Amino acid sequence: MTRTGRCLCGDITYDLDGDLIATAVCHCDHCQRQSGGAFSVNLIAQESQLTVRGELTTFEDRGELDDAVHVRRRFCGRCGSPIVSVLTAPAGIVAVKAGTLDDRSEVSPTVEAWCEHKQPWVQLPAMAVSLARE
Ligand SMILES: [Zn+2]
Ligand SMILES: [Zn+2]
Repeated sequence: MTRTGRCLCGDITYDLDGDLIATAVCHCDHCQRQSGGAFSVNLIAQESQLTVRGELTTFEDRGELDDAVHVRRRFCGRCGSPIVSVLTAPAGIVAVKAGTLDDRSEVSPTVEAWCEHKQPWVQLPAMAVSLARE
């Protein structure tokens, strides 16, 4: 299965091939700030499954505790749409932003992370995996 997507202005388009590792909601502070929303919805896959056309701009997102680059947040420099986050550990894993898909009807999150940062009004269906740090 190949999914297609694009940014708001259309300068960036992509194909995402094959099966997903997971579909994950992320409630972390950085995803809320980058998206301007309450959480991000991410299609987790191998980097080799993703083909991007157009020039992405990259923000190196550093950890608050160790100052290391944990995620490269890549977005359209013209319209600002977040397209994909590339993880540094495990390397080669990408989180494609589900809101940029052309067809969002198949999106079905089963994992949620950083639940300790979940906004109090957010109510989602129960997930198979729900991660929080104490
Ligand atoms: Zn754009
Ligand atoms: Zn996040």
